[in-house]
Amino acid sequence: MTAMIHARFDSGNIRVLDQRGDVFDLEIVADRDSDFYQWFHFRLSGAAGRAVTLRILNTRGSAYPGGWPNYAARVSEDRIDWRQAPTTYTDDVLEIRYTPASDGAWFAYFAPYAMERHHDLIARTAMTPGVTARVLGYSLDGQTIDCVELGDGLLQVWLYGRQHPGETMAEWWMEGALDMLTDPHAPIARALRQRCTFHVVPNMNPDGSSRGHLRTNAVGTNLNREWHAPSPERSPEVLCVRDAMDATGVDFAMDVHGDEAIPYVFIAGFEGIPAWTEAQGALYTRYRETLARRTPDFQVQHGYPITGPGRANLSMSTNQLAERFGCVAMTLEMPFKDNDDLPDPDYGWSPGRSMRLAEDCLAALWEMIDVLPAAPRGGTTR
Ligand code: ZN
Repeated sequence: MTAMIHARFDSGNIRVLDQRGDVFDLEIVADRDSDFYQWFHFRLSGAAGRAVTLRILNTRGSAYPGGWPNYAARVSEDRIDWRQAPTTYTDDVLEIRYTPASDGAWFAYFAPYAMERHHDLIARTAMTPGVTARVLGYSLDGQTIDCVELGDGLLQVWLYGRQHPGETMAEWWMEGALDMLTDPHAPIARALRQRCTFHVVPNMNPDGSSRGHLRTNAVGTNLNREWHAPSPERSPEVLCVRDAMDATGVDFAMDVHGDEAIPYVFIAGFEGIPAWTEAQGALYTRYRETLARRTPDFQVQHGYPITGPGRANLSMSTNQLAERFGCVAMTLEMPFKDNDDLPDPDYGWSPGRSMRLAEDCLAALWEMIDVLPAAPRGGTTR
């Protein structure tokens, strides 16, 4: 049988440049109307029992060339269990060597999270007593921006992810968070629901997700550079979420992402915002330290450089929300590679670890619940 490669499905992305038997030369396709690319997802067929070599040639121009050294592609034959495939990176070529047991093998930059699974998540969460599932608006392709709401408390907690659609670990994290929050037997979840109202947007960028984009929506907009001035033309996804935030207020916000290059889980804050206060910063620091104490999958040594006073980019959601509401806001970053403090040679960073991390993030929020201030309600912003 002839080996073949396919990518016409949800979040599929690859182009075949050349095939020499079971050796393929490939390139990743850029996001529409954008130069960004790094996400790939494709199916190999017709190669059971044979050693196949998959060579991705255009890594040099990718969004994060630093993401390729010490990275391993993920592979699955059942599309459920995604493991690291033998992968090398030499002379700008990412080479995956794999011998599938069956005639189907799927390869991806990280375990995919399909839009069908997103709708399954929204549906089963919405069926839980006390949960409201709202459609906040529409993407440019007409997909829904879904928000799940639960809890009766004063503290307004916003959790949102996948502004960058190729960072699928963000939606795995959301699934872990929602499964815990809706578990009637989870004591921390029950307690949190008494003290907080949760607003959860598991996927800010459904168009980029469907289209197999790394970083942008249907017209090439990086949604996490739109929060100062979202528009119906370029970023309705952000506009509808920010409007909903203005209506509820925000006391605690977490924006969930994946990082291509850094092999650790870390959190980035809002240090450079004009309205920064010591009290606001102290709560942020305390949250990070609490989470680092709770789980060996989180640390505070490695991460992004801290922005100087007054130099924050207010087009990014964490900075915009911290400035706009005076709240504790943060960007959670999980690796595409692995957590080098606790490496797993079989899986690397994984959906399962993303989901467990969400549970620890919620538990860290519970540990701080008595010191987090709930702002006066009524949609007041600074
Ligand atoms: Zn991101």
